[in-house]
Amino acid sequence: MFASVMINTNAKELNRVFDYIVPKEIEGSISIGARVFVPFGKGKNLTEGYVLEIKKESEFAKTDREKMKEIAKIEDSILNDTNIELARLMAEKYFCNVSDCIKLMLPPGNTSKDLTKRIKDKTAKFVYLALDKNATLKEIENNIKSQKQKKLLEFLCENDGIEAADLEAITEVSKSIMKTLEKNGYIKFKEEKIERNPLVHKNINRDKKLQLNEEQKSAYDQIEFVLENGEFAEFLLHGVTGSGKTEIYLQLIEKVIEMGKRAMVLVPEISLTPQIIDRFLARFGNCIAVLHSKLSDGERFDEWNKIRENKAKIIIGARSAIFAPVDNLGILIIDEAHDPSYKSDMTPRYHAKELARYMAKKNNFPLVLGSATPDVVDYYRAENFDVQLIELSKRANNAQLPDVKIVDMRKELAVGNKSMFSFELKEEIEKNLKDHKQTILFINRRGYSTFVMCRDCGHTMKCRNCNIALTYHSYENKLKCHYCGYEEAIPKICPECGSNKIKYFGSGTQKVENEIQKLFPNATTIRMDIDTVTKKNSHELILNKFKEKNIDILIGTQMIAKGHHFPNVTLVGIVAADGSLNIGDYRAEERTYQTVTQVSGRAGREKDKGRVIIQTYNPDNYSIICSQKQNYKKFYEGEIQLRRSLNYPPFCDIILLRVHSKNEEKVRAISQKIYKELLEKNNKNLLIYRPVPSPIDKIQNIYRWRIVIKCKLNRSSLNTIKDVVKNFYQSKNKDVSIIVDSNPNNML
Ligand code: ADP
Ligand code: ZN
Ligand code: ZN
Repeated sequence: MFASVMINTNAKELNRVFDYIVPKEIEGSISIGARVFVPFGKGKNLTEGYVLEIKKESEFAKTDREKMKEIAKIEDSILNDTNIELARLMAEKYFCNVSDCIKLMLPPGNTSKDLTKRIKDKTAKFVYLALDKNATLKEIENNIKSQKQKKLLEFLCENDGIEAADLEAITEVSKSIMKTLEKNGYIKFKEEKIERNPLVHKNINRDKKLQLNEEQKSAYDQIEFVLENGEFAEFLLHGVTGSGKTEIYLQLIEKVIEMGKRAMVLVPEISLTPQIIDRFLARFGNCIAVLHSKLSDGERFDEWNKIRENKAKIIIGARSAIFAPVDNLGILIIDEAHDPSYKSDMTPRYHAKELARYMAKKNNFPLVLGSATPDVVDYYRAENFDVQLIELSKRANNAQLPDVKIVDMRKELAVGNKSMFSFELKEEIEKNLKDHKQTILFINRRGYSTFVMCRDCGHTMKCRNCNIALTYHSYENKLKCHYCGYEEAIPKICPECGSNKIKYFGSGTQKVENEIQKLFPNATTIRMDIDTVTKKNSHELILNKFKEKNIDILIGTQMIAKGHHFPNVTLVGIVAADGSLNIGDYRAEERTYQTVTQVSGRAGREKDKGRVIIQTYNPDNYSIICSQKQNYKKFYEGEIQLRRSLNYPPFCDIILLRVHSKNEEKVRAISQKIYKELLEKNNKNLLIYRPVPSPIDKIQNIYRWRIVIKCKLNRSSLNTIKDVVKNFYQSKNKDVSIIVDSNPNNML
């Protein structure tokens, strides 16, 4: 028997299988997906690999049998052929090694080559009675003299099987006395697994399901029909903010559980929306497992095992939860399905939505994409009947959509208002403070000023390692690079010309907070951005504090935009809606529409009507005008026309080929070489743009060039690109690396 083994490495030239002999004694226990140790190369140490195939014959054995080596041992058999199939598919689609993909499916904290560094079950010492209860009581009466020993045994009679540490804390009987009791045959110690549960600190009241309104009911029925038939179908659930999408998810999941199946819900960067987990806990109690990056490795490991051992019926997680070891899925729901965080920015550069679709098709269950602001590509697919569109047009609890005003900041400037707040926004904040209502102010930059420039010569302070402007942070009184973390003190004079006319431009969250405190000294404020959410539960703490302590004003970035439900928030101010309009990406309008709509959706979600003020220098921009009315359809029509005429997705796919190196000359030369080769191999199905430096052409001292390719992603176009990439790796360009990213999140 032979096995094809993929070595665990990210060396691109080793992304192929090697055949090994399977020794007789492990023939019975080896399976596809097994992690094995094999001799490889010249080194004496064994190398880790994965079994991709098991076969009776090996081509290699026919000619070179004596050169073949044996598999040394099986490490574990956690993965199976389904995992391997997916990994192979991903490697093809996302230009990476199969072993990179396999790693995503292994237990969290279990991929290190150093076995001692891997996460294991957490155990603790538990204490049990050695005799039964009655026998023990007799012993206490007749043979035990020590009061302390009596006390401990009496306690154990009522609470058998307790953690030694707890027992000591409760009875105040020391460990040495327990040892004596063990020696005398009265108690036993047992090492047992304890679960690291990330939800233990939650204390949620249970709730009951709501009576669905007509729109919700119709949505529910359509999906339930597919569920009951055990079919695949993809749904785009497009509902305005607060239209009751989550309630529909909850009821669908209830149905799935009744059917004896399990459910998976993906949410963007889960820790940002603790409220959504709370709603699931309130409905379903603790049959939930959560998986996201803010958990400790140990917690993630335990949650992963809980899923594998079928102890969790519902899996809620961020992007990578799609790899959770769950079988018997009955539904897969992707909430806020337009969110960029579903696409990985690291190798493997996969999109969770694409993998979800694959899984749902393969196993015949429905996939539900929920959004108030669908991805234009998904909506286009719905128009072409690849996806079933379900629309919810009203807020579920009869709350009205907020009144939204657009304020032209150019006019404010013209009448002498140089402040970052328009007269109108100031007035509204004042009114809210008077009425004891809460306000949210949104700005998509953190820090104080977004760049610092010399008035005399125009020199902008830039990061030493990256070609990017430094941001001024007033609290630390420093300039910081948001790309590499570099910091420096603030220069008193311009390093270029010596002038002291250094000026701060652009605004971030710190400046908004500062100005608010100047304008309204009695208002309480709280800020939420990457700088304030440094600790594990700080998102939740900040949001709870805002809600429970009735803080007047919450100031924040993107983080505050999604999912939150604050009954007392009646005013939302978007301090600068233009931030995402100039990001140099074909999705700038879409991102602007999404952000403005999402943030506006936080206002007036209950009885009181909400007000939203959008401040902008582009009041005529269609993404801003459409988001004012939450008129997605109108936005979509404008956007799709533009995409069609400029040939952008969904009318093509975009592949970004990045070339990186510390050596500026080499980056240029290799980029040009790759470009030439692409042109030669292209049989008209690729539209290849010249290599140019990326918009951010240096990050952490690495020069960055890019080649943009437009094409339809299919076997032929993938193969052309792959050939060129393969050539690059074979010619061993030492200090240059390349990355291929299909439909990347950002083009920078
Ligand atoms: P979405 O997920 O679309 O933003 P939610 O499910 O959060 O909407 O619903 C918004 C609010 O409306 C929540 O407070 C929710 O409890 C309430 N709600 C949802 N469905 C109903 C219903 N059928 N009847 C009454 N209230 C509802
Ligand atoms: Zn200067
Ligand atoms: Zn930097």
